[in-house]
Amino acid sequence: MHEWALAESIITAVTKIATKRKLKEIKEITVRIGELQQIEEDILSFAFEQLKKDIFRNTLFLILRAKTELECQICGVKWIFRRQNLDEDTIEKIHFVPEVAHAYIKCPNCKSPDFKIIQGRGIWLEKIKGAK
Ligand SMILES: [Zn+2]
Repeated sequence: MHEWALAESIITAVTKIATKRKLKEIKEITVRIGELQQIEEDILSFAFEQLKKDIFRNTLFLILRAKTELECQICGVKWIFRRQNLDEDTIEKIHFVPEVAHAYIKCPNCKSPDFKIIQGRGIWLEKIKGAK
């Protein structure tokens, strides 16, 4: 259910920006969500459609996913995690508990499972288009 809370906080955040920039209408909002972040995009879009009003009446709401970037704690190598290399069951586990990733992913250089997630979690506003 946190998709609804997220949609609300996006609207709140964009409303603040709109006030600051004196925008009368928001044409487009793009949010980027880390690949490992557990968010149902359909529910988030639906929640946004239900909540939008006033300056958001005609807003196009776009969701992009961000790749997961990892850094080995032993040798310092950075790499992009490719989820297609894992089977569906593993992806589910990682989705629910990102820490479980350590059991399945190893450094491509030194094979250490001791890495940190640099990017792949979190949600941020990528772009806002408005009109004055
Ligand atoms: Zn390494």
